[in-house]
Amino acid sequence: HSAKKDRTGVVRWTEDLGLGQRADLRQLTELRAGIRAGHLLVQYQPLHDAADRTVRGAEALVRWQHPQRGMLPPGVFLPDAERSDVILELTDWVLAEAIHQAGVWHREGRGLPVSVNLSAAYLAQDRAVPTILALLRLEGLPASLLTVEITETAVLTRPDRAAARLAEIRAAGIRVAIDDFGTGYTSLGLLPELPIDELKIDRSFVMRMHDSKPHAVIIDSVIAIARALNLTVVAEGVEDEPTATALAEAGVDLLQGYHLNRPGPAELVHPNTRLSPVHTRQ
Ligand code: C2E
Ligand code: MG
Ligand code: MG
Ligand code: MG
Repeated sequence: HSAKKDRTGVVRWTEDLGLGQRADLRQLTELRAGIRAGHLLVQYQPLHDAADRTVRGAEALVRWQHPQRGMLPPGVFLPDAERSDVILELTDWVLAEAIHQAGVWHREGRGLPVSVNLSAAYLAQDRAVPTILALLRLEGLPASLLTVEITETAVLTRPDRAAARLAEIRAAGIRVAIDDFGTGYTSLGLLPELPIDELKIDRSFVMRMHDSKPHAVIIDSVIAIARALNLTVVAEGVEDEPTATALAEAGVDLLQGYHLNRPGPAELVHPNTRLSPVHTRQ
């Protein structure tokens, strides 16, 4: 692992790229320049209380405003970034941006928590938690208003090391969510040991809950497990009202999805307002 930042803009790989992994090195170099040129932006997608649909938080989602190609979704540039040290610089930027925004909401008296996605390589750094704490102090944001989202895969790469890092994060008062839950290989036996606060059920289950009984049953099981472990359950990818209603009845705490709100500018997040799909826009 080479986790060093290179101020010259040269991209360093965090692992050897095998022959099967074709990375777009030119795009990656361009991304690093784009980060430094201020071409990234963060959109916010609200998390709604399943019971009354009020906004309880917002997830920060990065986009690349490319001068020629327009607004690029993370799927276009994150996979390559995650195989290089560019992800570290990108994540530092997203964290600073999201924590700043949550600080603004906090000072406005809204106290709206923000969720930020962290990749495995970022988490592996010893500087991860001190860096986040410094940002919280800088913006005057209470740690309890930050949630970090980590995928199962990130935890599973090195469960012992990840668990220690998550414990460090939680000891600081920051919340921890497992993202895309159900798509990885988390052994259920590991769950009670993990220092986490929240499970986010992957949208692949949510989107199939009406046409596939097994998917609906899996969702019910995840909710039951979350209850037993005293974890908050979030459902992502909620695209219609029947799904929202069914998830609320099943006992999900928070809903996230296009039916409630698409990701958008921070100004469109109205924390204390009951939002209807009419307000939905990109
Ligand atoms: P995620 O963390 O699971 O984020 C949710 C993704 O689902 C977002 O895609 C969001 O726009 C999309 N989504 C939300 N509601 C719906 C819906 O109702 N239907 C459908 N079909 N999709 C919905 P996005 O913004 O393209 O992000 C994709 C992934 O990229 C994220 O998945 C996350 O894993 C990653 N990502 C985004 N921003 C960051 C970041 O700053 N750092 C890192 N490490 N990863 C990020
Ligand atoms: Mg996420
Ligand atoms: Mg997710
Ligand atoms: Mg997902």
